[in-house]
Amino acid sequence: MVAGYQAKSVWAERTFAPLASHALKTGEKVDLAIVGGGILGLSSALHAARSGLSVRVLEAANVGDRASGLNGGQVIPGLKYDPDWLLQHFGEKRGESLVRFGASLADGVFDLIARENLDVPVERAGWIQAAHSETALRAAEQRAKQWTARGVSAKLLSAVDVNRLTGARGYHGGWLDPRGGAIQPLAYTRELARVAVDAGARIAENTRITAIKRDNSEWVLTTTDGRSLHAKGVIVATNAYADALIPGLARTLLPLHSFQIATAPLSDALLASILPDGQVVSDSRRIVIYYRKGPGGRMLLGGRGSMADPTDPKAWAHLEHAFKRLYPALSNVPIEKRWYGRIAMTLDHLPHVHEPDAGLLVAAGCQGRGIGLMTGLGPRLVDYFVSRDPELLPFPPTPIRPILFHAFRNVGIGAAIAWYRLVDMLEK
Ligand SMILES: Cc1cc2nc3c(=O)[nH]c(=O)nc-3n(C[C@H](O)[C@H](O)[C@H](O)COP(=O)(O)OP(=O)(O)OC[C@H]3O[C@@H](n4cnc5c(N)ncnc54)[C@H](O)[C@@H]3O)c2cc1C
Repeated sequence: MVAGYQAKSVWAERTFAPLASHALKTGEKVDLAIVGGGILGLSSALHAARSGLSVRVLEAANVGDRASGLNGGQVIPGLKYDPDWLLQHFGEKRGESLVRFGASLADGVFDLIARENLDVPVERAGWIQAAHSETALRAAEQRAKQWTARGVSAKLLSAVDVNRLTGARGYHGGWLDPRGGAIQPLAYTRELARVAVDAGARIAENTRITAIKRDNSEWVLTTTDGRSLHAKGVIVATNAYADALIPGLARTLLPLHSFQIATAPLSDALLASILPDGQVVSDSRRIVIYYRKGPGGRMLLGGRGSMADPTDPKAWAHLEHAFKRLYPALSNVPIEKRWYGRIAMTLDHLPHVHEPDAGLLVAAGCQGRGIGLMTGLGPRLVDYFVSRDPELLPFPPTPIRPILFHAFRNVGIGAAIAWYRLVDMLEK
């Protein structure tokens, strides 16, 4: 497991059985090599193994050490964009297929957990998007209306409803999407790995791939210590942790840190007044704050953090401040855990799929809500690799286009976050 603040998540308090990890022997050959053992890599591996392919997953750290095992565990349906926007911008056919893909994402996670009998704590009571301003409330009304028209029992919430359902103060209203819910993300990731191995995939942990080269009809992947793997196809599932493996890839992404805090266990009286029905919440701020109840009767709250790796609990002070603003009654409850991980944003707020050469597939850009997205995308990548049918990909492959002035990203992102926080604060 990783050290320092990344290891301090509430999810890592649970003990997991060691994974059946198989060290890579040089010269192995497989149908499909998958670089990255997060949700994307593992859902791809499970589907590929079930489809009869020989599969190798190469993970630089341990399964669950990165975003997939560190996240907030909020299963959020849909993409960042509303159905009407997708139809307007992508046209009837592609737009409709994106809407349908987005609509399937939360079901995909909960169905997989049930179907595979994964040992993952689940609570499916819905996702609340709480509006911090009148403008955000109007957007929530539109969103709820569009999903209602598509058969979702979305509920528009008044300010009083949001306060009753969350216990939080200061919102103008919001909407409730019943498709969403909560999972234990580290358990989900570890369990995905377990069933992928049971299905025949072989996973090598602590195995960083440093080069991928074509050799006639095959790909040759090389590890840090010079071992090699031959594969007919490769899926690169490194997301926000992309390194120099695929030239230019890391520069297509704005890697941001998402920070989280967990309180000490709350009294029964407090627990009864906060999220009594067990929903998960994200708010509408540009710098989103998200929260839910967690294991052991604690409250978890997350949001953007500094770009520098934190060395001190003060780096989480902005989240503690937000928490006290929402829940003044919890002002004296100690914060027990602080942790963080990396998320990958793209400039167009959509995930990107690339195919720099035939049989080499890359997907990245989870936009901070990748549990459903990466679970759903994995099988599509595998099916596309097998059939070459582009209709199977929700996002058509695009060239790898590095963001201009990417080297200045930390300065730019830091300033943008400060600016958006100010706008969020002033907006009514
Ligand atoms: C703090 C936090 C909170 C979040 N909250 C939520 C939430 O509530 N809901 C939600 O839907 N999403 C949330 N997200 C986003 C979600 O966690 C991610 O979108 C999702 O986990 C991405 O999965 P992945 O498999 O694509 O990437 P990852 O889980 O990051 O996996 C990528 C893997 O690639 C490996 N790797 C990188 N380079 C190499 C290499 N060269 N060789 C081998 N391996 C390599 C890394 O070690 C890593 O394990 C959150 C993220 C964070 C960080």
